[in-house]
Amino acid sequence: MKNLAEFILQGDNFAVISHISPDGDTMGSAAALIYALEKLGKRAQWFCEGNVPEDYAKIPQIEKLVKSKKLEKIENAICVDISSADRMGSCLQLFNNTKNTAQIDHHATNTMFAKVNVVRDRNACAFAVLELIEELGVELDYDIARALFVGVCTDTGRLSHVGVTKEDVLDTAKLYALDIKHNEIIATLFQTSTLKKIKLKGRASQHLELAFEGKVAYTYLDSTDYAEFSAQSSDSEGVIDMCKSIENVCFSFFIRQVPNGYKASMRCKPEYDVATLCASLGGGGHKLAAGCTIEADRETAIKILLDKISEVL
Ligand code: 5GP
Ligand code: MN
Repeated sequence: MKNLAEFILQGDNFAVISHISPDGDTMGSAAALIYALEKLGKRAQWFCEGNVPEDYAKIPQIEKLVKSKKLEKIENAICVDISSADRMGSCLQLFNNTKNTAQIDHHATNTMFAKVNVVRDRNACAFAVLELIEELGVELDYDIARALFVGVCTDTGRLSHVGVTKEDVLDTAKLYALDIKHNEIIATLFQTSTLKKIKLKGRASQHLELAFEGKVAYTYLDSTDYAEFSAQSSDSEGVIDMCKSIENVCFSFFIRQVPNGYKASMRCKPEYDVATLCASLGGGGHKLAAGCTIEADRETAIKILLDKISEVL
């Protein structure tokens, strides 16, 4: 972490890059980092391929991220919550053209693609960013704490996931100490829905199948499903949780159509490992939550995933 703090202290202008199809952890971590950079008198601009899901944009600290000011010159780039360079999407070009590169992440599958790499074994990248902010000596404030809380909530299931540690809870308490209005963030992100999200979930539940004596649950959504409800990919965020919640299910996956095939989200019970499974298909992630893209038609994509699961079940 010292290396990354030095990297930051020596620079003046920074591109802060989030991963494609941004989630709460990559955006919350990026927003917190940009606030911290600004507190140090640095200039920073956020870069990301893909639309910000509507719910997140309702949180002022994330909305600010989207509107972060444009820089004329960029000499330093920092990736947040990005396990491999391809997860930058179209921002990879900017990264490759930047002189000084660094990253802060929490994926075991991280490929160490930057010059300065900090990869922490934590349940959210936001916790690693909190450590960085402490290392920099930047005082935690309301905006930073709220941005980090968005990341924590997204990646730990609001501190409910099986691997959540005492350290995670103690770090989250530091955020609560700043009166972050946690209930407002949770209500916006997790307790408010839209008709299109509910319709999509309904469609996904119609497509739901069980395999291997109920140990595997999977479903899909095609582009036509999204179009029918004027929905975007982030509107189906809860679909994988529906699959995962079914009694006796050890593996679940949800695939959604993308221009070059199907994007898979996978989850498993603690005795299994979907990070390795997805990595073998060119993707990655965490042991219990990972993803990959399969360049094939729907039936083939499902068969490939079921075959992979049958090898480890
Ligand atoms: P989700 O299923 O929620 O989109 O992603 C679960 C986890 O897997 C996240 O940590 C995400 O960053 C990672 N992940 C999802 N898809 C991919 C992928 O295609 N490649 C890699 N390397 N990681 C992925
Ligand atoms: Mn993350």
